[in-house]
Amino acid sequence: MLVFKSEYGDIAECGHCGRKGGDAGGALKKCAGCLRVAYCGAEHQKAHWRRRHRGECCPFKVVRGEDDSVGRFVVATRDLSPGEVIFTERPITVGPKQFTPPVCMGCYSPCFGDDDEDSHNKSSSSSSSSSFRSCSGCGWPACSERCEEAPVHRLECGYLEGCRFKPTPDPAHPDLELPIYECLSPLRCVLAKRFAPENWRVLTLMEQHAERRREEPLYRVNRTNTVDFILQQVPLDFEVAAEDIQAAVDVLDVNAFEIRSNNFRLEERQLKRLA
Ligand SMILES: [Zn+2]
Ligand SMILES: [Zn+2]
Ligand SMILES: [Zn+2]
Ligand SMILES: [Zn+2]
Repeated sequence: MLVFKSEYGDIAECGHCGRKGGDAGGALKKCAGCLRVAYCGAEHQKAHWRRRHRGECCPFKVVRGEDDSVGRFVVATRDLSPGEVIFTERPITVGPKQFTPPVCMGCYSPCFGDDDEDSHNKSSSSSSSSSFRSCSGCGWPACSERCEEAPVHRLECGYLEGCRFKPTPDPAHPDLELPIYECLSPLRCVLAKRFAPENWRVLTLMEQHAERRREEPLYRVNRTNTVDFILQQVPLDFEVAAEDIQAAVDVLDVNAFEIRSNNFRLEERQLKRLA
């Protein structure tokens, strides 16, 4: 997680010789690539690099584009082997994409899909094209018991159960986007405020472009469909301000990735720290 480099703690010893201080009584200097190792001086940094650090230092760095149009991106700092994993990360939140036809709350597969493909966990009864299965807790679409119990849905289920409005998928228009889904990923973010405070803290540090986004036409849509909806309809039992929800909307919009899989049939949004 390079975005918050300051979070790496102090390093007490030279990574090459183990000395507790730098050359000439100075401080140890951290490797600028990874900040996970420090050296007494340039000699030992070079020696350690040749001996082993070359292969274990962070293989990429985050740089900022020369103009505003590209934002930040990752470049390799050494040759990477085919298939080499350069980082793994659990997303802060996962959810359906912002504008979506009705989908399952656990796996984001469409409520009314074409069923001859390998719908991984649909039961035969739920795969009829004119009905959909709903979660026994909240009544939102969930294609199976497994999806109903999915960790990503567990937290919100009780809150959505208390919400009077539910998605109303229409088999005659399976591709019609349902605006109620727009609140889902922001709601999952906001739940972190109570249930995963560290994730919430990281989220609030992310780029929001709040000022600029106030002028976009989508701002009013988000304000109504998401901020007002959550505040007025979802019975949250902890303190949430309009600005918290707006921050979640902005952070998702600026930082989240949309991931497509299964021949573009499933689409989801992931918010990652490295974003
Ligand atoms: Zn040393
Ligand atoms: Zn390094
Ligand atoms: Zn599902
Ligand atoms: Zn539910």
